[in-house]
Amino acid sequence: MSSYDPNNIFAKILRGELPCTKVYEDEDALAFMDIMPRADGHVLVIPKTPARNILDIAPAELSKLMVAVQKVAKAVKAGTGAEGLTIQQFSETAGGQIVFHIHFHVLPRWEGVALRPHTGAMEKPDVLEAHAAKIRAAF
Ligand code: AMP
Repeated sequence: MSSYDPNNIFAKILRGELPCTKVYEDEDALAFMDIMPRADGHVLVIPKTPARNILDIAPAELSKLMVAVQKVAKAVKAGTGAEGLTIQQFSETAGGQIVFHIHFHVLPRWEGVALRPHTGAMEKPDVLEAHAAKIRAAF
């Protein structure tokens, strides 16, 4: 396994060098809209600590991250009016990982509505903001 690259996209978002559509932040975690959403209201939750994926994150940091994932999951479900959720995490290239700063996908789900492709079409910023506003209001 390679080491953590501090110049990955999410590290740049954490440092404020790249923008994001934020929905939640606390001492340990940041949550923002996925720019290529697989569902309306698709959110990513990342730790502020540098870790590549599930294989190298310290257990104590993972525990804190999962608390944030649960908090965000509840707000995503309430804010979007989803009927259910899918939570995903990809580790290493063979596992489907593209950005090497650990993140959990929170995907709102509706009966009979399939997920769109992973890293498919880019969403318009105003559409992402509209979903984010509903999710923020649900915390
Ligand atoms: P993966 O590493 O396979 O979990 O995929 C990375 C995810 O990050 C994909 O769902 C991308 O759409 C998403 N993504 C990539 N760049 C950005 C960005 N700048 N802001 C928000 N989401 C992003």
